[in-house]
Amino acid sequence: MKPIALILLGPPGSGKGTVAKSLSAHFAIPHVSTGDILRENVKAGTELGKEVKAVMDAGKLVSDQLVNRVVEDRLARPDCAKGVILDGYPRTIEQAKVLDGVLAKAALETVILYITVDYEVIVRRLGARRSCPVCGAVYNLISKAPKKAGVCDVEGAELITRNDDKEDVIRKRLVAYDEQTQPLVDFYRARVKRFREVVGGETTTPEENAASAIRAVEQE
Ligand code: ADP
Repeated sequence: MKPIALILLGPPGSGKGTVAKSLSAHFAIPHVSTGDILRENVKAGTELGKEVKAVMDAGKLVSDQLVNRVVEDRLARPDCAKGVILDGYPRTIEQAKVLDGVLAKAALETVILYITVDYEVIVRRLGARRSCPVCGAVYNLISKAPKKAGVCDVEGAELITRNDDKEDVIRKRLVAYDEQTQPLVDFYRARVKRFREVVGGETTTPEENAASAIRAVEQE
């Protein structure tokens, strides 16, 4: 198999991060998340971090020019020569176009993994999340319920629903995601041979989701 640049597209709550970790372990290629890289830079107080902090805090997108440079630098490191998983990038058509040139130069084949999940499932899943206001532990009423209803196992404190897990906020995030991602999906569907779509179901386990993602990616 020619080394690949695997681009993950999937809405918040689709389990994209978990799938990315499994794929990275299975194919032994690095998982590059632009969100993680930018957050690390903010934390370390680098020049880049100082430049992007305000934009990130406002929940806005960092400029194409900056993110493109971050990714180009990361892809130039030797561990990416045998392939890479890109998570959270590209986010705009402009980024996708620049990436095309970078990947051609690096001799990496573009593979798209588009994870779709019924939005009602996402709303139910994220809406079932509860957190402990004291220790930050996260529970899920569907898949990881606390021992005693409504109370943290560790702290005994009353569990809360985080603001971004409230139904109207989740729906707003999904609409924003759609507006951002649909053009990218169309862009790649039209030009990439290995465009793979997998459906994340309500009843499937993380292991099953990882297995079907691996099968989809391995398809020539
Ligand atoms: P989220 O799902 O919360 O958007 P990410 O970890 O993917 O989380 O990104 C966090 C922040 O980093 C974004 O809100 C944005 O400010 C910045 N960011 C990450 N990737 C990109 C990108 N490809 N283009 C522009 N900004 C980005």
